[in-house]
Amino acid sequence: MNDYEKIAELIFPNIKKDVSYWENKYKPRNLDANAEVTRFAPSPTGYMHIGHFFGANLDYRLAKSTGGIFMFRLEDTDKKREIAGSDIVALKTLKYYDIVPDEGFTIDRTNKGDYGPYRQSDRVEIYQTYAKKLVALGKAFPCFCEKPEGKQDVVEKREQVLNDIGQVEEKDPCRNLTLKEVENLLKAGKKFCIRLKSNGKVGDKIKVFDVVRGEREIGANLKDVVLIKDNGIPPYAFAHPVDDHLMRVTTVIRGEEWISTWPQHVEIFNALNFEPVKYIHTPVLCKIGENGNKRKISKSKDPEADMRFYIQAGIPKQAVTEYLLNIMNSNFEDWRAKNPNADVAEFPFSAKKIGTSSPFFDIVKLEDVSKNIISKMTAEQVYENTLDWALNYDEEFENETKQKLGENYNGLNVDLKQLAKFLQENKQFAIDTFAIDRYTQKPRKDIAKWSDIPTYFNYMFGLFNPSSLSDYNCGDINLKYNQHALSLVKEYKHVFSDADDKETWFNKIKEVAKNCNFAIDNKEFKLNPECYVGNLAQACTYIRIAITGKTNSPDLYSICKVLKDDVVKQRLQQFIEIIK
Ligand code: GLU
Repeated sequence: MNDYEKIAELIFPNIKKDVSYWENKYKPRNLDANAEVTRFAPSPTGYMHIGHFFGANLDYRLAKSTGGIFMFRLEDTDKKREIAGSDIVALKTLKYYDIVPDEGFTIDRTNKGDYGPYRQSDRVEIYQTYAKKLVALGKAFPCFCEKPEGKQDVVEKREQVLNDIGQVEEKDPCRNLTLKEVENLLKAGKKFCIRLKSNGKVGDKIKVFDVVRGEREIGANLKDVVLIKDNGIPPYAFAHPVDDHLMRVTTVIRGEEWISTWPQHVEIFNALNFEPVKYIHTPVLCKIGENGNKRKISKSKDPEADMRFYIQAGIPKQAVTEYLLNIMNSNFEDWRAKNPNADVAEFPFSAKKIGTSSPFFDIVKLEDVSKNIISKMTAEQVYENTLDWALNYDEEFENETKQKLGENYNGLNVDLKQLAKFLQENKQFAIDTFAIDRYTQKPRKDIAKWSDIPTYFNYMFGLFNPSSLSDYNCGDINLKYNQHALSLVKEYKHVFSDADDKETWFNKIKEVAKNCNFAIDNKEFKLNPECYVGNLAQACTYIRIAITGKTNSPDLYSICKVLKDDVVKQRLQQFIEIIK
């Protein structure tokens, strides 16, 4: 045994296995040559960020489109930053969006698959085996520096090198400790971490390759990076090479914030003699900020950074998935135009088509995608989704949003318990409402999210209060003392019947309008406007306002059919009382 091997034994007396044990246990996968093995590897530090979710989608699509494997790995080595329960939040978010890992850490906190455990805190023995090997090879060493002293040393070295070229070598003073010194320090009960003995010298360059960004030359690692912290657990820089090698990952998809420490990962892969993996570094998602400039979507400012936002707003999951594909692959929009009804799983996803510049995350566009998707749902689906949304509204998230947005916060202003109760007690009525203008050649596309529904259909779901018209303004129509509207609605109230077919219904409106001196023929009205109190369109608008409180609504005949005689007549009467 040489001194390095003796040091390794002293440092890791409990590690009895050799790396060959793990190499044999986790054999290379038997997959097609181009099948991609990917993993989504969140740290349990809170809610799921849209940027992370974007990455998870990429992982999933890349694996699925190549007949590969998609894994979920929990990176919980930083116990200080951990927020209890966020592992489950991440897994539930994936499940909600139908992203089902083939392998990984599961929602009941067990492992599924042959390459586990998939939670890093359960893999300490594995990391230590590889660290022990590096120590035995003289490629890593124990470092006993207490932080202030250690830092002092590093700063001195730093200054020397900085004077030279401007690059920083951070070689640790403990890299040259002898076996005797290590023995003594251990005997004295000193704490230690394990560091890489970096070979990098100022001016060294390495070539790195990113599937999307291509090949690049960057400065080599110059730092004796920590491989195992003094609590025995590795930081990301060591866990990443060990895990991705043993789980036989082919492509690592991660945020571009990892590019700056990439040279460390490359040197560790080399030290361990691992075959390199492919990388895709995903750009950060941006939005147009308050001052009109492009800026990062931020956790602290933007509620939409949090995946809970989309559930809270009631944006269907299909819309979020589809919109993300839109910004992920430039050719998605074309494909969708050519295949309007195809399942997104059929989209030929291509990693090469991911952009490198920060994509805009545009809520307005997302809502357009969503309107289209909702317009294709059945009335029953709209009912189930809306009820589910109203019942599961997240008060806690709402309060967080309120605090985040301050005076820019626009609350819903609707009693959701009342809405949910109404929907439950009037199921068929609600479904009939959602069916209005739905099963036509050109269904309406004006609902973007379930939270639009209470306002959009307030006149159907007992949320419309006719007294809101008492300021006499509806859109740009002023109803104050409007005798024409008053006499029209009065007369209409006498003739309305929900038993009428559409033609009879419309003929009645025309009849009443005519009696009240509205022009039925618009050409005639244009020629002699002074002879009439208005035209047929205006008469219809007054009736529409009386029944719905709005100047614009889905098909009024269908609305009346669903509301039925009593309610329609009651609304007309309320209108009369307000206007007169
Ligand atoms: N736990 C890391 C993160 O959340 C994972 C990075 C990676 O995917 O390699 O950023």
